Amino acid sequence: MLLRRLAAAVFAVLAVAGVQAVTTAPAAAAPRILYYDASQAQEFRAVVAQGAQIWNNSVTNVRLEPVPSGRTPNIRVYADNGWPRAYTQSLGNGYWYMGRQAVNQGYYQPRIAAHEFGHLLGLPDRRTGLCTDLMSGSSAPVSCTNPNPNSTERATVNRNFATAAATEARVFTWAG
Ligand SMILES: [Zn+2]
Repeated sequence: MLLRRLAAAVFAVLAVAGVQAVTTAPAAAAPRILYYDASQAQEFRAVVAQGAQIWNNSVTNVRLEPVPSGRTPNIRVYADNGWPRAYTQSLGNGYWYMGRQAVNQGYYQPRIAAHEFGHLLGLPDRRTGLCTDLMSGSSAPVSCTNPNPNSTERATVNRNFATAAATEARVFTWAG
């Protein structure tokens, strides 16, 4: 009987400790998951995955993951001979093209992929000409091999996905 009471007391203390642990250290909000489908990206499937990984390493409020079978993707990626371009339907939803016109001119493929994903994450083009800016796109030199968003671009994406920010449907073209 004494043992049973002791066990009950220990359990009660643990339960209180457990409640305290939950209230003093709340879990961080889960990032929003966006599923992308690269199955139609032809020879660019690997670089599309690389572009997604760059964002996953750069921001905390959203993650880009390959779409599981049987699920509708948020983002579809295609390839053709035109310019790389993105068509956003709403924040995190739409499709983009890996365009061979830029690839053949020598633009760095991981930078193109991360840039186009950037549009789907709510970033517009900013043609600053700077290689340090991911969203400067084709205005940076062809020799630019920076595929990473800068701190402002990261912060903007985190902010976009911290709340349910609304974005308009838009079209962004790599060169234009
Ligand atoms: Zn662009």
